[in-house]
Amino acid sequence: MLVDSHIHLARLPEPVALAQHLHARNIRWTAVACEPWEWTKLAQIWEECQQNGLTEGCNLAFGIHPMIASQVGDNEWRNLERFLLKYPAAQVGEAGLDKRFPGYEMGGIQESVFIQQAKMARELGRDLQIHCVGDYGRILTNLGTGSAANPRPLFHRFGGDIGIAKRALEMGVLFSLHADSFKKMATAEAIKIIPKDYLRIETDADESFMNLPALESASPEQWAKYLEQILLENQAKINSIQ
Ligand SMILES: [Zn+2]
Repeated sequence: MLVDSHIHLARLPEPVALAQHLHARNIRWTAVACEPWEWTKLAQIWEECQQNGLTEGCNLAFGIHPMIASQVGDNEWRNLERFLLKYPAAQVGEAGLDKRFPGYEMGGIQESVFIQQAKMARELGRDLQIHCVGDYGRILTNLGTGSAANPRPLFHRFGGDIGIAKRALEMGVLFSLHADSFKKMATAEAIKIIPKDYLRIETDADESFMNLPALESASPEQWAKYLEQILLENQAKINSIQ
């Protein structure tokens, strides 16, 4: 069985049909929704998948991506909490820091939105999907205490170095690897020291995949096959460097 730890089902064409084909290939997933419209859409997809017996071993995540951290108000926070309470196993996230978007600076809005979500994850006892493009050290500093065992934080699309990996391991963090995780020399070195049971794999498939030549006018079955290939390749890369 393969598990895709981070997929944006709500951003893909024919998500329920895709879930059917992933299920047929014995692939499980955590579908992540990281902005308000995506929460609503993912909840609908999940309900439909559940009615079709496709959610066993799967999960979902609701959170606020740093790209929209500067746009959320009280309404969105209430709405996020509503989704998390409706789905008691759902993870929080993806949440984090991203230097490409507004509010990244030290003490900026991205940081406070991340801290708030890390707190929600701890209080609700949920795993936390972390997105970081930039300062991993600042993420760990702001993760808060009491998150060592349950819930588990997870670095999605991990891109940190060995120093970060060591600090994060002490905090019980999991590492989800994307094809890009293996491209950076420093991250490839870090992966070597991470115990296998702390490693996960992911496609991070989202709307950008629709532009891939291989997926142009692809059927849900072809999508599933393509995603499976990515997961197998990531797994093979882990096996080759560990
Ligand atoms: Zn994502």
